[in-house]
Amino acid sequence: MRTFSDILDNNYFDKDSIVRLLGAQGRDKELLFLKAAEVKQKHIGNTVHLRGLIELTNNCTKNCYYCGIGASNNKLERFMVELTEVTKAIHFINDNSYGSVVIQTGEIQNEQFTSAIEDILYSITKIGKGKLGVTLSCGEQSLVTYKRWKAAGAHRYLLRIESSDKDLYYKLHPKNKKHHFETRLESLRSLQECGYQTGTGVMIGLPFQTLENLANDLIFMRDFNIDMCGMGPYIEHLDTKLYKYKKLVPSKETRVDLSLKMIAILRIMMKDINIAATTAMQTLVDGGREMALKAGANILMPNTTPGIYREQYSLYDNKPGLNEEAEDNKISIEKLIARAHCKPGYGEQGNSKHYSKRID
Ligand code: SAH
Repeated sequence: MRTFSDILDNNYFDKDSIVRLLGAQGRDKELLFLKAAEVKQKHIGNTVHLRGLIELTNNCTKNCYYCGIGASNNKLERFMVELTEVTKAIHFINDNSYGSVVIQTGEIQNEQFTSAIEDILYSITKIGKGKLGVTLSCGEQSLVTYKRWKAAGAHRYLLRIESSDKDLYYKLHPKNKKHHFETRLESLRSLQECGYQTGTGVMIGLPFQTLENLANDLIFMRDFNIDMCGMGPYIEHLDTKLYKYKKLVPSKETRVDLSLKMIAILRIMMKDINIAATTAMQTLVDGGREMALKAGANILMPNTTPGIYREQYSLYDNKPGLNEEAEDNKISIEKLIARAHCKPGYGEQGNSKHYSKRID
């Protein structure tokens, strides 16, 4: 039988190897994280690039079973951040040299929304004098819409596959036209085709999810040749359909442990992609994001959404930072980066190195 070190030193992880890595404990686990740290240092370095996150609207036409802002949740007040406030947040991001903006929304497909995003993209270019990086995370859209947004200044797009296992996907989504696994895949392909730095990711610790599923998720990301990844633990939300399977959700400790291992393994598999240390990590454990940075992540997305809207963007329960304004976040982010023995990449876009090589 292959030893753990044999597996770790092999250049190409197959599914069985990944399952074994995901199950590592004790000294083996230490070896995994040491290797990931080594790979990160060599290929990425210790700079953490920042993306100021604006949660633009919680309006959504979908009903994903895990997500707190799904259309049928009528306990929420629906909002769309006003343009003047969006502009203020963009100025904040620019003035504080965060380097990039992320606009995240529920999923809406109509002309009014498409052109509202275009207007925001134009103001990002204007305020940042063309120097700010721009990521969108606005769900599934048509190729035409993706092209319009690219032409208006967006150059990165995050669309999580949520789970690459079709059966599990349909346990997390209604089986109807609005929630097709194939459409999600097709959208990811369109994004790559349009020339975006393309990011995906999954939730970790979902009810019904196995280690084999997670191993296949990582293989999916490698096969898809993604440029960026945002993945983190699943967190229950009381007003969602998936909540009733709460008992099938692994403990917080297990979810954190698995999420960190997923990051570490992905870093070893895809050495030069950008990997985010997500807010969901922070929700499950204090210091979750610095743990993610140490495990191989290199991106942080400080929340710059105006404070008054934050409570209504409740993707999951106990989301942190609900009472903070952007300013508070900057100080805590600097401390967090220092605790992870990293430095902030102020004023830099921090584009995916993998992407630059891919299109060369
Ligand atoms: N509507 C957009 C993005 C908005 S939500 C889209 O579909 O791309 C961003 C991410 O939050 C989702 O992709 C999902 O992975 C994550 N999320 C939603 N509900 C969650 C939950 N209960 N626990 C953990 N992550 C969750």
